Amino acid sequence: MKALNKNVKVLVIGAGAMGSGIAHVAARAGHTVYLYDGRPEAVQSGCAGIDKDLRYLVAKGRLPEAEAQAILARVLPVAALDEARDAGLAIEAIVENLDVKQALFRDLEALLGEDAILASNTSSLSITAMAAGLTRPGRFAGLHFFNPAPRMALVEIVSGLATERAIADTLHATARAWGKIPVHAKSTPGFIVNRVARPYYAEALRVLAEKAAEPQTLDAILREGCGFAMGPFELMDLIGHDVNFAVTRSVFEAYFNDRRFAPSLIQQELVFAGRLGRKSGHGFYDYA
Ligand code: NAD
Repeated sequence: MKALNKNVKVLVIGAGAMGSGIAHVAARAGHTVYLYDGRPEAVQSGCAGIDKDLRYLVAKGRLPEAEAQAILARVLPVAALDEARDAGLAIEAIVENLDVKQALFRDLEALLGEDAILASNTSSLSITAMAAGLTRPGRFAGLHFFNPAPRMALVEIVSGLATERAIADTLHATARAWGKIPVHAKSTPGFIVNRVARPYYAEALRVLAEKAAEPQTLDAILREGCGFAMGPFELMDLIGHDVNFAVTRSVFEAYFNDRRFAPSLIQQELVFAGRLGRKSGHGFYDYA
């Protein structure tokens, strides 16, 4: 199966941590990218984030200046979804909430051409359920990048019950053409990585609740002693506690309240306090 042609325009909805990273990846692969967010200021900071990442690569000698400018010029901020009618691929990276995502996809299906592919970057929600209200559910799939999207190689291509194999294969080939390592996954709660990762966070949070070790200690053990790229607490701070808590709840509920996936009160408190991790300046660690 062939990757999408570079002249297919990509619409990314949600310009937060993931949306801006995905826009970076698609623009770097040669696509024109429309970047939209319900909050216009998020589009501005998303574009600034892409610029900052490109500047870093230029400074390190890994990207020519002219190429960095061309990539940034391919990211077009849009103030309304109407401006992106000619997009052939829409990738959603908004809040982890099924109802909100379903409403967005109904709007996108009405707006974009019949050949457009719709994809969600959801971490855990059912692709089958998200597609259920659509007229063309076969053209819908999960396209799950990892944080930060420009640096993390893995992409899960998630098929729901209605996803056409050709659509999943096209997304697989496209992710590969974008320099990623794609894997096919089925629409099960948390797919592959977020299902396996839940106990990693949960057990670390239980150790903390029992006061058996501090976040710094556990992170250092997992990172320096066990070879993980990041310890569980610094990783949760990077992901964002609002996002990670929503994913935990969704996986827990989807597995009919299986205790293995039970959310943590510690994490809930952080969300209540607005201590969302790096993005808010405070989480398990201070970043301000
Ligand atoms: P984020 O909070 O950084 O960004 C979300 C953006 O979506 C915000 O800018 C917000 O204004 C916008 N938004 C919310 N509702 C909207 C709507 N209805 N229409 C338009 N814009 C809307 O969140 P994020 O970390 O980028 O996560 C986005 C999605 O990606 C979630 O589904 C999350 O589960 C998934 N995801 C997150 C990570 C991670 O590590 N953070 C990794 C993989 C996947």
